[in-house]
Parts: sequence; structure tokens; C-alpha cells
Amino acid sequence: MATVIDGKAVAQTIRSEIAEEVRLLSQKYGKVPGLAVVIVGNRKDSQSYVGMKRKACAELGIKSFDVDLPEQVSQADLIKQVHELNANPDVHGILVQLPLPKHINEEKVLTEISLEKDVDGFHPLNIGKLAMKGRDPLFLPCTPKACIELLQRSGVTIKGKKAVVVGRSNIVGLPASLLLLKADATVTIVHSHTSQPESIIREADIVIAAAGQPMMIKGSWIKPGAAVIDVGTNAVDDPTRKSGYRLVGDVHFEEASKTAGWITPVPGGVGPMTVTMLLKNTLEGAKRYIEQNN
Ligand code: NDP
Repeated sequence: MATVIDGKAVAQTIRSEIAEEVRLLSQKYGKVPGLAVVIVGNRKDSQSYVGMKRKACAELGIKSFDVDLPEQVSQADLIKQVHELNANPDVHGILVQLPLPKHINEEKVLTEISLEKDVDGFHPLNIGKLAMKGRDPLFLPCTPKACIELLQRSGVTIKGKKAVVVGRSNIVGLPASLLLLKADATVTIVHSHTSQPESIIREADIVIAAAGQPMMIKGSWIKPGAAVIDVGTNAVDDPTRKSGYRLVGDVHFEEASKTAGWITPVPGGVGPMTVTMLLKNTLEGAKRYIEQNN
């Protein structure tokens, strides 16, 4: 049976480490990290994510700058807000909650965030540096960074191993594959046009699943002893639950946990780690800025 990687527990450990570093920073320089969380409109899911991020900041002593804009805000006004945050020395990280309303060009807005404050790691220059040998991006995207932390903190060797990433989105699959490559794995990417994904996944010592397809990866697709990180978060109907649904991953957990060496559950695996990586990025951005300017 696989070792189940407890994302909540790992996230808690990292949060304690962050809180301690925030305390030391404040003691030495009288300054704390600042994270600006910008939200446009009142989508329920976005409000809930933003609420979670702001609460997590408060718990760790990170100052949160809340910018709540109406659904009808113009692109120019949103960009003006971003520029003001870029210029604010107490803000070390800026996050614009996605998706944005249809009349706003997301790519344009994200590119306006200063590279030094791009704590989501979505700026094309940060991704470009991630893809280049010998270059280091200022920030790594949070979910892929969470996957690597979970592997490393579980004692999984990445160097020299065969890794398969299922999915190639800009926010998860692609940067996860680049991070594995930087860590010296041999990486294959499976996407919606890949034929016979099971034969490729069966070869993998490490699988990162981020396709958004409920339980598509069966137990028989997993190489014995492999490390399986399941990013997928899919709601499926479940009449036995009060809510009428439950969350499942892209991996068939019950089957795969009989073959894998390590596996993350859904929920309770990658999910709790993603916000924690955002806080870690904010701390890193703050340390870089404060140490350079004192
Ligand atoms: P996207 O929909 O942007 O990307 C999905 C990717 O999976 C695409 O590259 C797509 O291929 C590929 N894909 C889709 N179907 C298949 C298939 N049948 N076989 C192989 N590949 C397939 O999703 P995201 O990357 O944003 O998210 C992926 C999952 O991760 C979702 O369930 C999401 O909810 C979850 N997630 C969880 C987070 C967390 O913190 N736990 C954070 C972010 C996402 P193609 O490019 O060819 O279309």
C-alpha cells in the first residue's frame, strides 16, 4: 500500500516555518511581508478563494492589502490599481484573482504586474526563465511548486527519474513539467491528443496528474512504487452527501493506492499546499526587497 502524503500536515509545517521567518524579518527590519489580493466582481468561488488567502495572511503575520473592484470596472482602471500596487513599497506580492470578467484582457493585466511582485509566477518572463537552462525565475507558480515540495518533503528522488505530467495548462501542467526538468527528471507530457496515455504513464516513476478528468488514471496504469501527485479537483455527483457532490482527483485513488509508493489524496493533498506556496512566494519577495533596500 502506498504512503498517503498528507498535504494538510505538510502545509501546516511550512506555514509554521513561514510564520517564524516573518517574525525574524519584523524583528530585524521592523517590516512585514505585504500581499495585495485584487478581486473583480462577486463570483462565489473567487470570493471564497480570496477569503482563504486573506485569512491565511492574517494567521502568519503577512499584511494583506484588499482591493475589491466592481464587475464593471474598466481594464484601464484595473491596470491603474495594479500600477499603484507596483509602486507601493509595503506590497511585496500582487495577486489578481482569475477569471476576470470577459471585457478585460487577462493576459494584458497579468503582464502589468511588476516582475518583482509576481507571486503567482504567471508573468511570461518568469515562465520563460523557468524554461531556460541556467536561468532562475523570481517566482515559481504556486501549484507546480506545491507538487515539487510534496515530492521532496516525502523523500522522493526526482533526479534521473522518469516523470509524466498529465496536462499542459499554463498554470499547472506546463510549469510542473518544466520544474521536473529543472530537477533533472526525464519528462513526458500527456495531453488530450496523446494516444494510449496508459502505456506512457505505466513507465513513470513520478506522475503529476492535472487534466481535470475525474478518476481517469486507473490503478493498472501506475508503475509499482511510483509517486503519484494528483492535482485534479473534480466535483462528481454523490447523492449520499448533503451537498449532493464530492470532490475526486484525476487518479482513481482506491485502485492506485494499492500499487503506488506514494500518493496524494483529493481533497487534502495538493489543495492545502497551493495557498501555502503563495504565502511562501510573498515571504521570498519581501525578503528580497527588504534586504536589498536596507
Ligand atoms: P485546464 O483545463 O486548463 O487544462 C487541462 C489539461 O489537461 C489540458 O492541457 C488538456 O489537454 C489536458 N487533458 C484534458 N483531458 C485530458 C485527457 N483525457 N487526457 C489527457 N490530458 C487531458 O486545467 P488546469 O490545468 O487549470 O487544472 C487541471 C486540474 O487541476 C483541474 O481539475 C483543476 O481543478 C485542478 N487544479 C487544482 C489546483 C489545486 O490547488 N489543487 C490548482 C489548479 C488546478 P489539451 O491541452 O490538449 O487541451
